[in-house]
Amino acid sequence: MTRFVDVHNMVRWAAANGPENIIAGMIEYLESDFRRWESFDKSPRVASHTPFGVIELMPTSDHETYGFKYVNGHPSNPARGFQTVTAFGVLADVHNGYPTFLTEMTVLTALRTAATSAMVARKLARPDSSVMAMIGTGSQSEFQALAFRSALGITALKIWDTDPAALEKFVRNMTPLGFDITVASSAAGTVQGADIITTCTADKANATILTADVIEPGVHINAIGGDCPGKTELDAAVLELGDVFVEFTPQTRIEGEIQQMPADFAVTEFWQVLRGQAPGRVSAEQVTIFDSVGFAIEDFSALRYIRDAVVGTEYYEEIDLVANPEDPKDLFGLVGALSPVGT
Ligand code: NAD
Repeated sequence: MTRFVDVHNMVRWAAANGPENIIAGMIEYLESDFRRWESFDKSPRVASHTPFGVIELMPTSDHETYGFKYVNGHPSNPARGFQTVTAFGVLADVHNGYPTFLTEMTVLTALRTAATSAMVARKLARPDSSVMAMIGTGSQSEFQALAFRSALGITALKIWDTDPAALEKFVRNMTPLGFDITVASSAAGTVQGADIITTCTADKANATILTADVIEPGVHINAIGGDCPGKTELDAAVLELGDVFVEFTPQTRIEGEIQQMPADFAVTEFWQVLRGQAPGRVSAEQVTIFDSVGFAIEDFSALRYIRDAVVGTEYYEEIDLVANPEDPKDLFGLVGALSPVGT
């Protein structure tokens, strides 16, 4: 049987445990998997592009467990009543290839993306950071805010979105949770005096959410919205202001902000910083940029985390996903047993 977490159970589990606690736990799993980077199969994700958006498969394996996520990215979806990003994911046992765990991953992706951003910022942002600018207050944004409070103690937020309803929704959701929120009137106004900038917008375009002239020394930029060919958020000159950190270079060169740069533009893979094999932040004035696109190992960590966390709880069910005849060579016997005699 395969363990299955549906949306109903995912939401109940997240509410019962608290997103901040989950994100803190997930960061531990992420760090442990990033530290054993070379033990994973790695490849850029497999993408199918259409004029509407993209559908992607994100596989990896540590040769004990195989995992993949199915995820879409459709920036025009909210205007049609659908979400920009939805997902589900699977873990399987490499010894027999059977899927052991299946879960919704729309909510889980928001938690894992936030946990990844916070893991990286904990290493790269100035330790005295206290104010975060957030540009784009859609589905991912509240999770990002909670992750930065959980990992870095950030409670002061300056926010901006071109959609007033998205700003209103963010204020409504987050003010009761104790955040001190200032609504700005432009992206440039948001970043003034901020220690960390999170860009989290969705537009299938080479957008220029931020230009180099508004970036102050010492800031950490957590750029998560540019994650597809032809879909970026930062002016290319911003990337020249400091040091760029990525998840998996071959994928980020295709999908990240650095798709705008020459193929030999220098970047550092974050796992090397985590392991002390490459420098991260080296001065208080340095600008650090996390060019996040989302990588399969992060989904693997998130899947492992929830698989372990729901053991012994009411938040999963067992489903009959794999046809498993008693005689492994008699698959037809399953069907034949139910066929009317003589037909
Ligand atoms: P969403 O559609 O719910 O929210 C995006 C918000 O950006 C909307 O409120 C929109 O009004 C706003 N926006 C668009 N253009 C803007 C602009 N020029 N200035 C200010 N605001 C603007 O999308 P979401 O689910 O929150 O995802 C946000 C982005 O993050 C998407 O591009 C998605 O593909 C990406 N994403 C990345 C990762 C990762 O791992 N890096 C993971 C999940 C999602």
